[in-house]
Amino acid sequence: MEPTLAQRQNPRDPQKPGKTLLVKNADMLVTMDGARREIRGGGLYVEGNRIVAVGPTAELPATADEVIDASGHLVTPGLVNTHHHMYQSLTRAVPAAQDAELFGWLTSLYKVWANLTPEMIEVSTLTAMSELLLSGCTTSSDHLYIYPNGSRLDDSIRAAQRIGMRFHASRGSMSVGQKDGGLPPDAVVERDDAILADTQRVIETYHDEGRYAMLRIVVAPCSPFSVSRDLMRESAALARHYGVSMHTHLAENANDIAYSREKFGMTPAEYAEDLGWVGRDVWHAHCVQLDDHGIGLFSRTCTGVAHCPCSNMRLASGIAPVKKMRLAGVPVGLGVDGSASNDGAQMVAEARQAMLLARVGFGPDAMTAREALEIATLGGSQVLGRDDIGALAPGMAADFVAFDLRQPLFAGALHDPVAALVFCAPSQVALSVIGGRVIVKEGVLQTVELEPVIERHNRLAAQLMQMAR
Ligand SMILES: [Zn+2]
Repeated sequence: MEPTLAQRQNPRDPQKPGKTLLVKNADMLVTMDGARREIRGGGLYVEGNRIVAVGPTAELPATADEVIDASGHLVTPGLVNTHHHMYQSLTRAVPAAQDAELFGWLTSLYKVWANLTPEMIEVSTLTAMSELLLSGCTTSSDHLYIYPNGSRLDDSIRAAQRIGMRFHASRGSMSVGQKDGGLPPDAVVERDDAILADTQRVIETYHDEGRYAMLRIVVAPCSPFSVSRDLMRESAALARHYGVSMHTHLAENANDIAYSREKFGMTPAEYAEDLGWVGRDVWHAHCVQLDDHGIGLFSRTCTGVAHCPCSNMRLASGIAPVKKMRLAGVPVGLGVDGSASNDGAQMVAEARQAMLLARVGFGPDAMTAREALEIATLGGSQVLGRDDIGALAPGMAADFVAFDLRQPLFAGALHDPVAALVFCAPSQVALSVIGGRVIVKEGVLQTVELEPVIERHNRLAAQLMQMAR
C-alpha cells in the first residue's frame, strides 16, 4: 500500500501547518540567499519551523498568530558556530594556562578537566549555549572529547534540548595517553572499543538526519596527537556507515606540524588523506598551518574548515590562510573554539575578529564585513553539511536573529547597518528565533532562567579549580 503523506515524513518533523509568525518592518534584512539580497523594510513569514516567505513587509501576509515589529533592527540568518568545547566555560582564564601555546596549555588543563562530572558538563553547556544564543548563534556544534567520572555526551544533549538550540553534538575521544607517547594523562583516555561502542550508541539514540533536524551526532576523535591511527580509521568507517559527519583538530600550529612529521612522516593534511579523513562529510578545526598542498586537497574533496581566529591569536598559533582557502573553494565556517582558549564565545565578536585578523595577515582587502558575516552563517551551514540553515529563504529553517540598531555602539554607522554589525563593537541580539520558536525576546533568554544557572556554574567552576590544587 502506498504510504500516506504523514507516514512518508520524518516522524520528528511532522509537516503540520504549525503556528505562524510574522516579523515585519526590519530596517534591513540580510538574506544570504543566492542573490545575497539585503531588503530595506524587510520581513519574514514563518509557518511552524520553516520560512514560507521573505521580502518587503508590504508583500508579506498582514497577520499571523504572533507578530513581531522589527523596526529599528537588523535581521540576519542565525549564526552557525562550527567549533567549541563548551565544558571549558568552567576553566576560563586559568592562571597556569593564560600564557602558554597549545601543547603547554593542554598539559596544564588536562589535570583540571580530569575532575569533570556529568553535572558540570550539563551546566557548562547551558552557560555556553546562553552566551552563544545571546550573541546571535542559533546552531552550534560542540566537541566533547573527555568523559571522566561517568560523564556522557547525553549530558550536553540534555542542555541543548532544554535551552532550544540547534545542536551538532560531537562524540569526541582520546585514546593515546602519555604512556603510549600521547599528550593527555592516561587517566583521561578511553579504550578504542569503548569509544566506538558509545559512539554507536549515541548515533542510534539521537541522530536525526532529516531536514530541519534540531540534533545531529558527529564522530570526532580529538586530534591526531591524542588518538591512535586505528581509531581515526575505525571512527571514519563508523561515521560513514551511519552517514554522520566527522570532525577533528588539524594543523593548528607549528608544533602540531612537527609532531605529525616526526610521528607519521607526513604533514597533517597528508595524514588526514591517508586515514580517509577528507570529504564533504568532514570538517577540521583551525588548519592555521594548512599548506598549499593541503588547501588543494581540501578543495578537491570539499573538506571543511572551522576557522577560530580568537583562539589562534590567544595561543599564538598563527593566521589561517582563509582567503586562499575560500578562493580555492574550501568550505570555511567560523568557530569560537573552547572557552579556555577564547575566553569569550561571542559569535559576532568572532566574525569581527576574523575580518580584522585576515587584514593583519593579508592586507586591508583580505576580508570584507559581508564576507565575515557570510562565513559566520552560510559558511558554517556548509561546513556542518546542511542546506536548511544559514540563509533566509522560503523552505529554509526559521532560524534568524535581530540586532537593535538604536544602541550607542551602532550610532553613526546606520548608512550601512550590515557592515556596522561587523565593524562596530559586538552587539548582543534583541531577538532570536530557532525553528520558529522565540528563544530570545527583547534581549532576554526565554527558555532558561539564567541567574541560577550562572550561579551554579560558578560554584562548579570553583569546585573544579579547588580539586586540581
Ligand atoms: Zn578545539
